[in-house]
Amino acid sequence: MTFTFKEFVKTISNYRRYYAQEITTESYFGFPIEPILAVEERLQSLESSTVAYLSMEFALAAGHYNSMHGSVLFEVANRMEPRDVVSTQMQTDQIVQLTIDRRKDLPIYSGGLGVLAGDVIKTAADLKLPFVGVGLLWRKGFFRQKIRFEHGQTVEDELWDPRRYPGLIALKDKITIESQYGPINVRLWKYYVYSRDRQHACPLILLDTYIPQSDPDLKKITDQLYRSDHPWWQIAQRAVLGCASVEALESMGYPIHRYHLNEGHAAFAFIQKYMDAKRNKSLVGKKFAYTCHTSVKAGHDRFHLSDLKKIFTGRQLRLIKKFGAEQEDPNLINLTQICLSQCQRANTVSRQHGNISRQQFPEFKQRIQSITNGVHVPTWLSQSMHDLFQMYQKDIGDWQKYPKYLDKIAKFKSNAAFRTDLFDAHQKSKRELVRYLAPWGFDENVFTMGWARRFADYKRPQLLFEDIEHLKQIAYNEGALQLIYAGKAHPSDEQGAGRIEEVLQGIDQLSVENTNIKVVFLENYDTYLGRLLTSGVDVCLNNPLPPFEASGTSGMKAALNGVLQLSTHDGWVLETTAKKIGWLFGATHSTAGIESEEELKLKQDSQELYEVLQKVIRLYYSMHRNGRVDYSSEWIDRMINSISVGSYFTTDRMVREYLQLMWET
Ligand SMILES: *Cc1c(COP(=O)(O)O)cnc(C)c1O
Repeated sequence: MTFTFKEFVKTISNYRRYYAQEITTESYFGFPIEPILAVEERLQSLESSTVAYLSMEFALAAGHYNSMHGSVLFEVANRMEPRDVVSTQMQTDQIVQLTIDRRKDLPIYSGGLGVLAGDVIKTAADLKLPFVGVGLLWRKGFFRQKIRFEHGQTVEDELWDPRRYPGLIALKDKITIESQYGPINVRLWKYYVYSRDRQHACPLILLDTYIPQSDPDLKKITDQLYRSDHPWWQIAQRAVLGCASVEALESMGYPIHRYHLNEGHAAFAFIQKYMDAKRNKSLVGKKFAYTCHTSVKAGHDRFHLSDLKKIFTGRQLRLIKKFGAEQEDPNLINLTQICLSQCQRANTVSRQHGNISRQQFPEFKQRIQSITNGVHVPTWLSQSMHDLFQMYQKDIGDWQKYPKYLDKIAKFKSNAAFRTDLFDAHQKSKRELVRYLAPWGFDENVFTMGWARRFADYKRPQLLFEDIEHLKQIAYNEGALQLIYAGKAHPSDEQGAGRIEEVLQGIDQLSVENTNIKVVFLENYDTYLGRLLTSGVDVCLNNPLPPFEASGTSGMKAALNGVLQLSTHDGWVLETTAKKIGWLFGATHSTAGIESEEELKLKQDSQELYEVLQKVIRLYYSMHRNGRVDYSSEWIDRMINSISVGSYFTTDRMVREYLQLMWET
């Protein structure tokens, strides 16, 4: 080893004061130190084909997966706050909060895009790849959501202490990028992401503009993820992600083989590299790969030149115009266009998304590949499912190393012992959820369905509440129903906030009558709830308006846990249609063109939803009633199909495809 512990400690700011107890020659916050020295050495070597992955957000689920240890001072600083609930049992809502003594996840994400980025870096560590992530250190997170029936969603700062987050260290390095507004100073942090077996690690570099001496506005660039009250903030955040990433990687001394831009947010990295290139500027694009996550034209980042002028210098602007000006209006700069036209490799996040994007951007048709998203198995699998697969490892093989081996579970359909063990394992995951919700009287023997993700119009969170009478009728005819909702709406998305209010009104309507439908809305959806819900419910409801869901990943988490899908024909689900992992319903997207999001088809699709839901609940109670289980039921066939199909939708498969199609070629 030529990169020594001593050299490592020299890179850390205030090592003695803050970290001397947590980082020793043996241990890094309770994890082995050796993988860190090894990866630093690997990344500085000219022989590695290092990939730098730039993303506005990263969700590492560090509160429950590979959670590092800190001394007492560290442990008290970043605890998860208690949660309020709005439910059909209003009396309970007013006197109880949901509490659990855990560390919160690093609050540097908002939703699915961040979850994917987090799963990518964890998988890169598992596969021992020369890989470094770059993101931003959001001082106030995305936001902390409070829910009250009377107020709907309110927005608070997500306060945390970066100095005391186990695994996160402040570096001595500072960099500066030029801007029209003045020099932007950026300090650097590092968080080490370990592999599942803790034998390897990949660094995540986090950029932070909060430097006390800096200009008050520049200081706040990295305050709040996706701040959008003025285009200035949006552009400044993208300038830091794009331009400062390139500088930060240079100051670390990492030679980069491939820059991977996770969504168009990071497009200015290309501009920065192009400017820095002394010759062969036409070769710069060869170093770039780009993942597009957006299905709709309106979803692509576009900025007015007059706003960009306030941040970028004349030289930068000329390039931005050259590569990003829209044909119809050259004063509009489209970041997707910069990425698609300049990055040599590009991918979309599902097959359908690929087809749509090739229609939308015919000029880049050849370049757009489809690499369907996946999830990181060890992060999202419940403990009881993990234990089940271990118990059958002799027949499955080393599924922890090769998650695709879980497809062999399909062979267990005729294995009576496995069917019993599988259902029991699911009930165990469900009990964890039921225990969490104990004050609201949840019951493991009652059919339970969850809807949890960002509140955005096209995801149609209110669909199930379109016709409350119909819903009541189903529960009356078929049996009791437990529903769990969670999700945030972006602070400036009024429509999304309106959808939250509609769900709360649905809850209110159901609470005034004595029905056998119990609904809870849990505030502040995060990766902890993400895992608890996607493994603990019986059915995962997913009802976006096709074709607006580019992929979606929460259904993949559910499938691996043997939780069934009730979904519209959209995103990743379209790649599973013949496999019976649940039920599909609702309007399909005609390939003729993209219909408008304005027409949400709520009436028609909710009627179809009620029809299939009735069948689903009937099947559920014919399989499982009051603790008595028919293990031969078709329900359990579908659970087995789900896990087997889920074995394909992993980041293990996805990152291997990235390696082959985006990074190595
Ligand atoms: C998985 C996950 C998401 C993504 O949900 P989609 O169904 O893909 O929209 C968002 N937020 C959290 C906290 C998650 O765990």
